Amino acid sequence: MSRIPPPTHLLPPHLRLGRSEVHGYGLFARSFIPRGEAVIEYFGERISKAETRRREARQLALRAAGKEGCFYIFTVNERFDIDGDVPWNPARRMNHSCSPNCESHILRGRVWIVARQDIAAGAEVTYDYGFPYKGWRDHPCRCGAADCVGYIVGASQRWRVRRILKKEEALFRRAQRESRVRAKKKSRP
Ligand SMILES: [Zn+2]
Repeated sequence: MSRIPPPTHLLPPHLRLGRSEVHGYGLFARSFIPRGEAVIEYFGERISKAETRRREARQLALRAAGKEGCFYIFTVNERFDIDGDVPWNPARRMNHSCSPNCESHILRGRVWIVARQDIAAGAEVTYDYGFPYKGWRDHPCRCGAADCVGYIVGASQRWRVRRILKKEEALFRRAQRESRVRAKKKSRP
């Protein structure tokens, strides 16, 4: 995530930029936003699918090298995507939540973030990034929602991640129990 906050004059009047408890910066409602209201447009550079693949591979390589690799590419349709990693897109400051108060809508090739419920003044505005199942371990989630999966992955794919995590947890507990039993045996005179 880029560390320079966007110029605040680019934000719609009902939003402000602030420090988020979720992750770095976030966007907050300055005033009450009713359900169904467009909160902000997700601006960016229009790129081809081939370019998306190229940029994603570059971000993954950065991550593998221990550098920051963030994903701002929004899937729009079969033909093109929008890369929101541009300074004139303050919506890139919006955090993901597993229990978000906004959702994304695609209207004639443009991406809008819309309130999916009434949002109180002062609340952080969030949406589901809808990341694919592939590579889910690369995107840990700290959204703090009661039903947070622990990883940023689209709502329709969360059951798959939950199933794997449950299995791993069970294996871990068994290994823990077995090592305790071994330690007990050893400590007997
Ligand atoms: Zn979460």
